[in-house]
Amino acid sequence: MGETSPDTVIDSLTGLPGRPAITRALTSDDGPVSVGAVLFIDLDRFKWVNDSMGHQLGDEVLKAASRRLLEAVRQDDVVARFGGDEFVIIMAPIKSVADTTSMARRIVEALSQTMSIENRQIVVGASIGIAIMSDGLDPELLLRQADLALYEAKRRGRGRHVIFDHRLAAMADHRVRIERSIRSAVDEQWLSLHYQPIISLRTDGIVGFEALARLIDPELGPISPAEFIPLAGEIGCMKVMGRHLRRQLMVDAALARQTWPEVSLAFNLSPAETEDRDLADIIGTECEEFGVDPTSLTLELSEDMLVQDRGWLERTLVRLREMGCRISLDDFGTGRASLTSVKKLPIDEIKIDRSFVTDIGKSRFNQATCEAILLLANALDATVVAEGIETHEEADLLRQIGIHHGQGYLFAKPAPVDWSAAELPVSLQAVD
Ligand code: C2E
Ligand code: MG
Ligand code: MG
Repeated sequence: MGETSPDTVIDSLTGLPGRPAITRALTSDDGPVSVGAVLFIDLDRFKWVNDSMGHQLGDEVLKAASRRLLEAVRQDDVVARFGGDEFVIIMAPIKSVADTTSMARRIVEALSQTMSIENRQIVVGASIGIAIMSDGLDPELLLRQADLALYEAKRRGRGRHVIFDHRLAAMADHRVRIERSIRSAVDEQWLSLHYQPIISLRTDGIVGFEALARLIDPELGPISPAEFIPLAGEIGCMKVMGRHLRRQLMVDAALARQTWPEVSLAFNLSPAETEDRDLADIIGTECEEFGVDPTSLTLELSEDMLVQDRGWLERTLVRLREMGCRISLDDFGTGRASLTSVKKLPIDEIKIDRSFVTDIGKSRFNQATCEAILLLANALDATVVAEGIETHEEADLLRQIGIHHGQGYLFAKPAPVDWSAAELPVSLQAVD
């Protein structure tokens, strides 16, 4: 696939026109074309096919996809290869926007049909972004709009089309600003850790704290970790950010050991960090460097990481546990892990996701889920933590069920802690 260059007039692999044809089709002698649409198409599972079945087969998939596109379009539409597994269709003229959406549906349908190539049955699927031409719009801008719509189509779950509108531009703009913030966060010292206590539901005493990252951009204000952690993973910044946060945790854990020897500090690991095969050794070295006893650390990972496990996560977790770290399964019940993968892993703790804890008194289903998770945890000799407890009713019911630990705004919100101080801030002291 790498041999062909769609920058040329005709792409030698597919025989389709390359990028120059796109600009040409979007420009008439009098300037930009006035009524039409650009469809930006990306094959959903192409990378997977190419990586797992080989480039030769990948090339055949691209050729088959090109043929299907040519069959789907109208006579005067232009089909071009943009690059890699991306294609562009220019529809000009169009009578209404409906012309473009029915075309998009036809293409998604055509590219979702099985391809028989070299005795293999392959289904790739496609996502499409659409931009509608309006008078005088620069071809480059139009392509960028279609590309943004394509990004949104993929974000919404692939196998669909999205038409560009200005909200998408605002979202993209927001994303760009957050990306910029992520890239500066470590150097500019915009990151910190807040801590939320984990409470024994039996004694009401504090058994540990969860470290939660906070990013405050001086211009944008606080950015939620639920937003910046996945984005940092996507843009390849999570390793550096994770390392920076871990070092902060190590400093705090070393101090906490002197004043609060009995508390355990929990730290969230992101998928990007667990991709590092040496993670266990890195954490071991960091513990030595900062004088932290690994037994005082709990590492939280989410269920979905088990699904993507390529074999080494299990080894990493076994190593971490041998070193003395506790392993916790976060947001349990919301991910896609099978019970088999849970059974295989060395797990010390299961955290029930907040969605099963909220209004547990009013939902038989939520209550049954908490009971079932407790049974499962007991069989694994694991502790159960209920997340997101906000009311006394929720805490009482969870206590009755027999859930060991709890965490939530009822007890304390995450807050900064000066671990060298002899007293915890009042806001973090567990209430009776
Ligand atoms: P999580 O690990 O499940 O953390 C619990 C989240 O629930 C935290 O949100 C916490 O502030 C929030 N929470 C706790 N009690 C309550 C409650 O009673 N009500 C409500 N509504 N929320 C409650 P936060 O701090 O926004 O973090 C969101 C997620 O971001 C975390 O979910 C975790 O997955 C991720 N995250 C946070 N810090 C880090 C980090 O340092 N590294 C990594 N890899 N991920 C992090
Ligand atoms: Mg967590
Ligand atoms: Mg959680």
